[in-house]
Order: sequence, then C-alpha cells, then structure tokens
Amino acid sequence: MAQEVWVVLEADESGIKEGSLETLSEARKLVSLREGHLAVITIAGSEEVQRDIQPFAPDVLYVPPPEASMLGPQTLGDMLADMIGRRKPAAVLAAETIFGHEVLADVSSRLQLPFFPDCVTLSWDQGGRLVAERYHCFDRVSATLAGRGPTVLASLRTGLINIKKGMPSSKTQVEIMDGWPAQVSAVRVLEFIKADPRTVDLSDAEVIVSGGRGMGTAENFQRLWELADLLGASVGGSRVARDNGWIPLERQIGQTGKSVSPKLIISCGISGATQHTFGMKDAKTIIAINKDKNAPILKLADLGIVGDVNEIVPAVIKLIKEGLQQRAG
Ligand SMILES: Cc1cc2nc3c(=O)[nH]c(=O)nc-3n(C[C@H](O)[C@H](O)[C@H](O)COP(=O)(O)OP(=O)(O)OC[C@H]3O[C@@H](n4cnc5c(N)ncnc54)[C@H](O)[C@@H]3O)c2cc1C
Repeated sequence: MAQEVWVVLEADESGIKEGSLETLSEARKLVSLREGHLAVITIAGSEEVQRDIQPFAPDVLYVPPPEASMLGPQTLGDMLADMIGRRKPAAVLAAETIFGHEVLADVSSRLQLPFFPDCVTLSWDQGGRLVAERYHCFDRVSATLAGRGPTVLASLRTGLINIKKGMPSSKTQVEIMDGWPAQVSAVRVLEFIKADPRTVDLSDAEVIVSGGRGMGTAENFQRLWELADLLGASVGGSRVARDNGWIPLERQIGQTGKSVSPKLIISCGISGATQHTFGMKDAKTIIAINKDKNAPILKLADLGIVGDVNEIVPAVIKLIKEGLQQRAG
C-alpha cells in the first residue's frame, strides 16, 4: 500500500491558513516524488474548507471535535498521536506556526518520533527516508537531516513555498475519524486575539511598509510607522535601514533577514538588490517608490512610482487622513 503523507490543517472562519496551503503544496511535491498518498487531517469540517482542500489532496481525514470549544494543542496532540499509532503514515507535516510547532512537538515527545521544525524543503533519500533541509545560525548554515523511524514529523517555514494547486479532485473522500481522548486536557484556548501589526512577526504580516536608504534620516523613517498605522501594516526595511539603526534586526527583510510574503508590500527608497528581493519577491503585490527610474525594484514592482519618497509618503498620509475624516464626518 502507498505510504501516507499527512498534512495537519489550520483553518479559521476565513478559510485555510496560507501556511497550511504552502505545506499542502510541498506535500503534493513530496508525494509525487515517490509512490505516496496525500491525506489532510482536519478538525474544521466546513464545506468551504473541504472544497479548498480538493485541488491538493484526494483524502480528508475529518475528526469532528467533541465539543464546540476551541481545543488546546495537548488535546490535539493526544488525538493525532492516537491516529498516527493506528495508521502509521510515513510523514506528518504542518506549517511552522505556533499551533503547528506545538502540536507536532507534543506528538514527537509522546511517541518518541523524530521532529524536524522550520524546514525549507522536503524530499526522500534513496532508502525512502524523509530528508529535510533547514537553516541554522540565523540562516547562515544549511543542514540536511534524514529521518529514522516509522513516521517522521516536520513543520515547514511559512512564506517561502509558492502555493501550487493541482486539478480539483472530483472524488475527494472524506473519512470521518474518531480519535479524541476521553479526557480533554486542562489547557483550552479561550480566545484568539488578532496580532498587533506593530509587534507581529514580519513573516506573518499581511501588509508591510518597508524602507531603505532613500528615506534619508531616522525622522523621515518614522513616517513609515505613521503610514503603517493608518494601513494596519507592519514596518520592515533593508539592511541599510538596519545598519542605520532605523529598524532592529528582526525587521530586516532579505537574505540575512526575514523572508516575507504579505498580500501587499510598499517599498520606499529601496534599490532592490538581490539580497533584499530574495526576502520579499513572493509578496502578492509590490508597490515601489524610488526617485531613480532605473532602480531594479521598479522592474519587480506591480506598481512603480518614480519620485521623492519624502514627498510622496507625506502626501499619501495626508490623503488617507482626509479620507478617514470625511468618512467619520
Ligand atoms: C552577504 C550579503 C547579505 C545581504 N543581506 C541583505 C539582506 O538581508 N537585506 C537587505 O536589504 N540587504 C542585504 N544586503 C545588502 C544589499 O546588497 C544592499 O546593499 C541593500 O539591500 C541596499 O539597501 P537599500 O536599498 O536601502 O540602499 P541602496 O541600495 O543604497 O538604495 C537606496 C535607493 O533609494 C533610492 N532613493 C534615494 N533617495 C530617495 C528619495 N528621496 N526618494 C526615493 N528614492 C530614493 C535610490 O535611488 C536607491 O535606489 C546583503 C549584502 C550581502 C553582501
């Protein structure tokens, strides 16, 4: 029988989380490299979620939650450990989010299975073992790890993998599973609070305002925070912005900084060096403001604005504020 690869799905009322779709894409690739079979394990049973799974996986293992309350990772870990024990999939994958990491780490310690967190690619070696590539030492060193054991667990870094759907499967099988422990763990999730764009990890930000040397001074750079607050966005920047002390290291975007894939990034006074674009080229929409019409970032941008960022950004802030005032009045 073909060995199963499972993806632990994260979904909420707005649908399947981006990181889970990326993990599904990597899992499809993994299954195609070897005689394998992809199944999705989910506790979200809505028709929308099952429809969104169809372009990725033929099988859905739906585990209806025992009660309407939101379950903690330990209870989910209990359930997953029980299901793994019964079906022995070759690999169980999840997105490298707080949820995905916690659940897989919990299962790993219960069943003594290898867990590779925060992987960037997955494949098989010739002996059929799962091989994971991951970065160490602030992403300066890459390591290849091979898993030993009946089942290997791995989480995938979000924002790196392009989502690749297949043809929607007309014969998606939904198997309703029963795997919940008799006792629900003492830890329960009571509420999800939306992340504050000022503090959210840049890799999870949906909108980013990003600045580089062209901002000129720390005072000018402060305007990007004002724009970001108005847009509900996070702030990032180039290495020069970091070297100048305008942003901390965790807000640097690029090869030696964060890889981001927001819905929108507004690049202000950034030239578009390859070491920078490495970290932001997967943004869905790129708007770039640069006074040099030949700046490489303008070739990458969906919308390029040639002009002085220190005139354009204040003008945009003014327009947004006027618009908000009109709406309020
Ligand atoms: C090993 C290595 C790793 C690196 N890793 C990273 C990394 O992770 N991230 C990263 O960002 N860089 C990284 N770099 C550095 C990278 O090569 C570039 O030097 C850096 O990205 C340039 O930053 P910048 O675009 O802010 O500055 P610049 O390249 O100097 O560009 C400034 C831009 O601003 C424009 N400009 C100037 N004034 C204005 C104005 N008033 N209005 C509008 N536009 C204006 C200019 O036309 C120019 O295009 C790395 C380099 C190396 C060698």
